[in-house]
Amino acid sequence: MCRGKNVAAPLRIGLTGGIASGKSTVADYFAELGAVIIDADIVARDLVAPGQPLLATLANEFGDAILTDSGELDRAALRERVFKSGAERKRLEALLHPAILENMALAARAASGDYVIMVIPLLAETGAKDLVDRVLVVDCEPSLQLARLQRRDGTDDVLGRQMLAAQASREQRLELADDVLVNDRSPEDLARMVEKLDGFYRELAKASDRETRPGLRLP
Ligand code: ADP
Repeated sequence: MCRGKNVAAPLRIGLTGGIASGKSTVADYFAELGAVIIDADIVARDLVAPGQPLLATLANEFGDAILTDSGELDRAALRERVFKSGAERKRLEALLHPAILENMALAARAASGDYVIMVIPLLAETGAKDLVDRVLVVDCEPSLQLARLQRRDGTDDVLGRQMLAAQASREQRLELADDVLVNDRSPEDLARMVEKLDGFYRELAKASDRETRPGLRLP
């Protein structure tokens, strides 16, 4: 059967977790298994590429100083511009978040496959739960997040703690979870857990009782 208008859209899995919990690593493993990945950070970057209407809107709101000489978004300048004011930050988020989520929803509807992985780091903070059928939380101890953040980005402990404190708490995130992947073992263990989830989601996508199926908590 070819995919046509009447073929059900894929099951939408919202993948979230705190900074350096392992979201990108998990998404890469899902991609290796053939899943379509829709990543909020990539969608966001595309939306503010030169020539995009949203970039012009941002320049109108925050001034041409947020553009580089070649007309690209100067992320550092924008960050600096909104850094000190909660109201400015909110204004920026009000422009960005709905556009990002709307584009992700469109991409999910157009995607092929049994399920799509929608990477939404700020799922708990933006109330994006409505956008997905299921929430998968990548979870680990904050101390492990800090260690990974240091190894990946060279972020020191003080800044790392500030970054964690600015996000939703571990508990807030877990409250939204249907499925949980505890990432405190080796990358090989993580890959095996993602394989299990892949099988689970493929089966779930075809199941008529998916709403009432219990979630998976791994390991
Ligand atoms: P996020 O996308 O949530 O910010 P990443 O997937 O980038 O997190 O992971 C943060 C860092 O930790 C990366 O350098 C990644 O390679 C590493 N990492 C992730 N999971 C593991 C693991 N199970 N064991 C060792 N290192 C890991």
